[in-house]
Amino acid sequence: GARPAAAYLSGLNAEQREAVETIEGPVLVLAGAGTGKTRVLTTRIAHILASNRAFPSQILAVTFTNKAAREMKERVGVLVGGAVEGMPWMGTFHSIGVKLLRRHAELVGLRSDFTILDTDDVVRLIKQLIQAEGLDDKRWPAKTFSQLIDGWKNKGLGPADIPEGDARAFANGKGRELYTAYQARLKTLNACDFGDLLLHPIRMFRAYPDVLKEYHAKFRYILVDEYQDTNTAQYMWLRLLAQRPKGEPQNVSCVGDDDQSIYGWRGAEVDNILRFEKDFPGAKVIKLERNYRSTAHILGAAGHLIAHNEGRLGKTLFTDRHDPDDEKVQVHAAWDSEEEARAVGEEIEQLQRKQHKLNDMSILVRASFQMREFEDRFVTLGLNYRVVGGPRFYERMEIRDAMAFFRLVCQPADDLAFERIINTPKRGLGDTSVRALHDYARARDIPMLAAATDLIETDEMKAKARKSLFDVVTMFKRWQGLLETTPHTELAETILEESGYTDMWKADKSAEAPGRLENLKELIRSMESFESMRGFLEHVALVMDAEQNENLDAVNIMTLHSAKGLEFETVFLPGWEEGLFPHQRALDEGGRSGLEEERRLAYVGLTRAKRRCHIWFVSNRRIHGLWQSTLPSRFLDELPVTHVDVAETEQSYGGYNRGGYGQSRFDKQEPFANSYSTPGWKRAQANRTDATRDNWGTRSGVSIERIGYGESGPKARTIDGE
Ligand code: ATP
Ligand code: MG
Repeated sequence: GARPAAAYLSGLNAEQREAVETIEGPVLVLAGAGTGKTRVLTTRIAHILASNRAFPSQILAVTFTNKAAREMKERVGVLVGGAVEGMPWMGTFHSIGVKLLRRHAELVGLRSDFTILDTDDVVRLIKQLIQAEGLDDKRWPAKTFSQLIDGWKNKGLGPADIPEGDARAFANGKGRELYTAYQARLKTLNACDFGDLLLHPIRMFRAYPDVLKEYHAKFRYILVDEYQDTNTAQYMWLRLLAQRPKGEPQNVSCVGDDDQSIYGWRGAEVDNILRFEKDFPGAKVIKLERNYRSTAHILGAAGHLIAHNEGRLGKTLFTDRHDPDDEKVQVHAAWDSEEEARAVGEEIEQLQRKQHKLNDMSILVRASFQMREFEDRFVTLGLNYRVVGGPRFYERMEIRDAMAFFRLVCQPADDLAFERIINTPKRGLGDTSVRALHDYARARDIPMLAAATDLIETDEMKAKARKSLFDVVTMFKRWQGLLETTPHTELAETILEESGYTDMWKADKSAEAPGRLENLKELIRSMESFESMRGFLEHVALVMDAEQNENLDAVNIMTLHSAKGLEFETVFLPGWEEGLFPHQRALDEGGRSGLEEERRLAYVGLTRAKRRCHIWFVSNRRIHGLWQSTLPSRFLDELPVTHVDVAETEQSYGGYNRGGYGQSRFDKQEPFANSYSTPGWKRAQANRTDATRDNWGTRSGVSIERIGYGESGPKARTIDGE
């Protein structure tokens, strides 16, 4: 007879339930935003555990952020009624990769205490290699090459695998050589970059089938959220782990939405969705169509917008929710970003007065530079806010310096850390000394700290430099000796004191110095929740969700990219202007597909909202200190009038001239283009007076030229959020 339905199944609709209960064999859930894909994955795990099909340690679950993994663990606990004892294999592709590598580092030529380099370190390292090759690093920028390498790694390509054309394109045909040298350097440093966290395990699984077999036996169930944004390397990794001999079920289930694929620029392949059925024969494809998140207006607006993309897999989305009180999506205009921030601040305060929680509100920006204005405003208003998804704190100079000391203590081969602090604070060890150390280390293939230890015994260096170097080496020896015996926070304090680093900032008379000292204190405080310095360093290397006080009621600020999978009662979407959103760079580099990815990003933004969605655009934006006039985003024209209100406003719109300039850019074939001739809109246009135009003219004083936005959200690379 049928088993009585477990409580955790009762809230699901029929399709969701099918997706949860189809435990054996490959499953692909392909469905639009807010249809319960993540909920299905979570319930699936609960179901697997509750029906005793596997232990928590036998489930491999890949989420988009580590925060999402934590939340999923909690949810599973609630569903099965009680805390789940450990779910060690739940996290991002990268964090799971780190874990695999720590266990098997020696199989790929590393030691298990390897360091994970961030983008900054990588660029510095590559620059050295380029110079060592005698190449002009202005002509062949290290940053460009680091991006090339990253692209190759996303495709799963090692130095031997890259196409000849690619290899020829960089550094007078030395692309492959440089890539090879780079990998060799990483090995010497006992380090790896982000891409290696995926590539090394892939290589290892291929070279050591028995190791792979162990994991086949171990991982009985594999689950992947946000599947549309996996890149080729992640897909290879997944396939290796999920494949089974003929006849054995491949218990892999992936959930995703092609309309939310927003990481193409980072190598994500939405085609992985299409390949799934081919690579996992017999896969069951389940569609979910009911949206449980948003109002009909929000869904209507988002659905209408995304319909402008071509080549979609096509999905239906509906909601049962039709509340006449639901507000339409609101579009507001502001003069400039300062006014935008002020107005959003006012709206938030109004909502707060009506007892709405700040936690339930989120500001989703296209580019991270947009955040500052809101942060400034909220500080002025005394509104709590948190910046989600960026390791901002750990990116500060003083924090990076301090971390370099800690890294070198834990990992003496970490030359990049060594170079960062060898003359910080100033010890009279200038470029000449560093170069001497460098050459000595290179010639013997030893770490620089070891080279320093050697060199102080010789007279190759001037007496003064030798004395300084002696002091440095002695300090590090001492701290390394304390590593196992002294509590790590205490040791950290000792290091910052004895190195003279804290004193350096105390002596600094600049305005930022006190803030930097506070940050250093905060750094020590943030180590308290870790068991060891190594554990802390690993955390920081992996840090994605800036450590924020989760308990505080605060407005969330984040990029659209990091908002994936999340939901909020109220969502503010500022900066809907041509050039910013869609982003100029996406248009320049990606053409039509770049535009479509921007549109998917807009779709992601809209569909984060449960009840209220407020879009903003400004007519003037200050970029790199220059005023630029801006045009409302074409995405505004793609919103359906039936679901959108253009807010009445006193504002006038200098520099805004859709009738002329605008028309030419719009695809006249598009049925919805310029649907924005609502009364409010017309008034906005009518309000544009010569006076404001003059005003704008004097404010700008520069030619009206659209330039790319230098600093954008997705550029900021964190290990979180594949
Ligand atoms: P996204 O594509 O944005 O990641 P999703 O498909 O993963 O969305 P979920 O986040 O799992 O959707 O679910 C959206 C919201 O709907 C959540 O608040 C979830 O709790 C709720 N929900 C999902 N299924 C049901 C259901 N059967 N009954 C009630 N609420 C549901
Ligand atoms: Mg989801």
